[in-house]
Amino acid sequence: MNKKQLHQQEWYRLNKEEVVQQIATDANAGLSNEEAKKRIKQYGRNKLPEKKKSSKFIRFLKHFHDILIYVLLCAAIVTGILGHYTDTIVIVVVAVVNACIGYFQESKAEDALKSIQNMLSLKAHVIRDNKRIEIDAEEVTIGDIVLLNAGDKVPADLRLLSTDSLKIEESVLTGESEASEKKADPLEGATELGDRINMAFTSTTISAGTGRGVVTAIGKDTEIGKINQMMTEVEQLTTPLLQQTAKFGKTISIFIIVIAGATYLFGHFLRDYPDEELLMSIIGLAVAAIPEGLPAILSIILAIGVRNMAKHNAIVRNLPSVETLGSVSVICSDKTGTLTKNEMTVQQLAVRDGSYHVSGIGYAPEGSITRDAQEVHLDENQQLKQLISCFHICNEASLDKDKDDHWMIKGDPTEGALITLSHKAGFSGSGRDSNRKATIPFDSDYKYMATMVEAEEDQLIYIKGAPDRLLDMANREERPDGAGDFDKPYWENRISELAGEGQRVIGAAYKRVDKNKQEISHDDLGEGVVFLGLAGIIDPPREEAIEAISLCKEAGITVKMITGDHADTARAIGAQMGIDEGGQTIQGKELQEMDDEALRKAAEANHVFARTSPEHKLRLVNALQANGSICAMTGDGVNDAPALKQANVGIAMGIKGTEVTKEAAEMVLADDNFSTIVEAVKEGRRIYDNLKKTILFILPTNGAESFLIMASILFGTIMPLTPVQILWVNMVTSLTVSLALAFEPIEADAMQRPPRPTHEPLLSRYFIWRILFVSVFIGGGTLWLCTHLLNMGIAEETVKTITLQTIVIAQLFHLFNCRSVSHSAFNQDFFSNRAIYVVAGLLFVLQAGVTYLPFMNRVFGTEPLSLQHWQWPFYLGLATFVVIELEKAIVRNLVYGKKQATMVMR
Ligand code: ATP
Repeated sequence: MNKKQLHQQEWYRLNKEEVVQQIATDANAGLSNEEAKKRIKQYGRNKLPEKKKSSKFIRFLKHFHDILIYVLLCAAIVTGILGHYTDTIVIVVVAVVNACIGYFQESKAEDALKSIQNMLSLKAHVIRDNKRIEIDAEEVTIGDIVLLNAGDKVPADLRLLSTDSLKIEESVLTGESEASEKKADPLEGATELGDRINMAFTSTTISAGTGRGVVTAIGKDTEIGKINQMMTEVEQLTTPLLQQTAKFGKTISIFIIVIAGATYLFGHFLRDYPDEELLMSIIGLAVAAIPEGLPAILSIILAIGVRNMAKHNAIVRNLPSVETLGSVSVICSDKTGTLTKNEMTVQQLAVRDGSYHVSGIGYAPEGSITRDAQEVHLDENQQLKQLISCFHICNEASLDKDKDDHWMIKGDPTEGALITLSHKAGFSGSGRDSNRKATIPFDSDYKYMATMVEAEEDQLIYIKGAPDRLLDMANREERPDGAGDFDKPYWENRISELAGEGQRVIGAAYKRVDKNKQEISHDDLGEGVVFLGLAGIIDPPREEAIEAISLCKEAGITVKMITGDHADTARAIGAQMGIDEGGQTIQGKELQEMDDEALRKAAEANHVFARTSPEHKLRLVNALQANGSICAMTGDGVNDAPALKQANVGIAMGIKGTEVTKEAAEMVLADDNFSTIVEAVKEGRRIYDNLKKTILFILPTNGAESFLIMASILFGTIMPLTPVQILWVNMVTSLTVSLALAFEPIEADAMQRPPRPTHEPLLSRYFIWRILFVSVFIGGGTLWLCTHLLNMGIAEETVKTITLQTIVIAQLFHLFNCRSVSHSAFNQDFFSNRAIYVVAGLLFVLQAGVTYLPFMNRVFGTEPLSLQHWQWPFYLGLATFVVIELEKAIVRNLVYGKKQATMVMR
């Protein structure tokens, strides 16, 4: 079929066979790989046209829309009018270079985010060559058979071939927020989009159930493509701290313009500077005081951090959460797969006549079932056979060998463990191969799965799931002589025993139903359910997660385990992992009965929450936040999305998480591992510290220059720097040294201090003091040096060159002070940040250039220096380093005391 024919066909009217035949595919085996490749070539890739971005040139121009550039351009005009053409040219060049730096840094930050976004590309499950595979949604093509599961995003427009309680939320397309129930039967008449219940449309989300469908349209030919609505979110490129700095930059600019005006009036009326020189100095002051490079540098630090996190498997979806991560005070984590390895093995089986041991570890179906060390064969034990049949049939996973000949499962690990068990017992294939007629898929709200299969005379509904749920449902139990009276307390004891050892317990049950029954619903699972028995599954804790939990404790972060598993299992695992300290294990149903006040107390005091459903997660997040906690919450299922959205940092599982949760999350864990969250928190703290160190470092450059100029006007001395020289100083420092702190490794105590309070002001009282102190020290020292050198009879041009060097070199020394805000500079390993030495090298080359290259001498009004002249800048640099270290030591030890210092000096 060509594109036009495909487009015109009303697929919803045809029956399944016609659709499959017209689209030339196979409803069971799917397309062959070659055919799929051919079709991708023919129809193109399955993607929506990209959102139009403003052109590079426009984005470049936007960097001129900045208060600093306006100040610079005014300065260029004034210098032009005064006839200082070299200055005019230099200022214009600086304005352009500054815009270039901004543009370059912004593109780098964008690239970093983009590459991360690519890591999050949408996936689809399709059948090709009779195999279920996962591919990039872009590779889905016409005729592919797509499998849909709760939490997935529909990857293309599909005509549904089969559905099992399938519900799809189509609000992006229809505006209707209620999920629409889907069926595979053909429809009559010209049905509206919202009524085409046998179609699934791209970008809509599966809210419940499962289904399979054949692709009828891809890319821009899909219904979403037609209305050309881009679904990918626009990422935020700013964060609270960045916004605060930008605002701060603006306020400071206005403040500076006012000060500059006042200084001009002072100089004009009270000092006898020639007007032209005064004007030039005022321009210099304005240029000096504005921290133009700061916002761009901060965003590059964030981008580098985000890239680092991605390397460590934590993919951050929006920048502000990097900052929030650093202040997280509670991490609420799922258990299965995040705290535990998710490598599940059935170790015990329990039926009414006793317990059995299953040998073998992992997914290799090698092992045997024994009782009292005697191997048991299923033919001799009908009860056990029924139990394992239930686990085998009521199961979506399959067992296979990978290309390295290792056994692996496809599907959910709990089900993988059960299918491995059934293979050990002699079953083959998967549950899907049996004559199943209808299925209720597993849902963590209901905590069980059920499937109906044909039996000899009637039909059987097999149910497997959380054993307590099944106990509530059942009213009989399977005994060696058939179904008999139900001894519930016996089973409750057995469940507690297994769960108390930290095992995950799964129950099995069945119900006989009429031969004619076609569909099953939750309501069918009441009267007549016969309990079969239990499987105890081990899922060992991750060692690295245990370490991460103890790291959290040191860092003042509380870890809470919120699991769907049984209370005893949760308690045992919680204790093994060091989570549960004194608190109780609270169950979902207890939470349900609590009012908000009681819930807040319970959320604070306890650390293990069992048998919870996703709605409890949401209530817990709310309660913790009401207690003032900054809360990170993990999730994987479709119903977890609201809790993740509500959490300060929603964390989705990259492997087992659904597309919907990934979309709701701020961060996605590529490896589903708890310790990755803690790594990300650590990185968050490092980044935040480095952002603040950078602010602490950069502002004194501006401060010192402004101080120098203002003081020389006030004292009526010569202007120690010309505007172009000031521009040079700002430029070289922001190009080189300012970036070095982005690479500063984490401080030794960063994970030993409590989380940073949110809404901390950008500049703490200590920061303001430090910035002023350093500005006055470097500015005052330079001014003193300047006068001293002039008094020694050194030429004015040479003195100006020495002044220029002094500020830059003093800042280089000051960089070492800023490596740690409160601790001694020697606390950080001197060579752990190689970037410092690279930028220092670059800085020397640039400074040598401005001092010794004749053309630069001409442009910047500098003079070559003799070796002797260099001693002054170095002395002042060294003095800066020593004095600031002393200041830190005094404040740390004498003013605040060591303990308090790390809290206050930040
Ligand atoms: P966590 O919330 O820590 O990730 P979980 O995986 O135990 O834990 P759920 O997936 O909500 O949470 O599972 C809840 C319970 O449902 C499990 O304890 C188990 O008894 C049962 N269960 C889990 N998976 C299945 C399944 N595929 N089929 C039937 N029952 C299941």
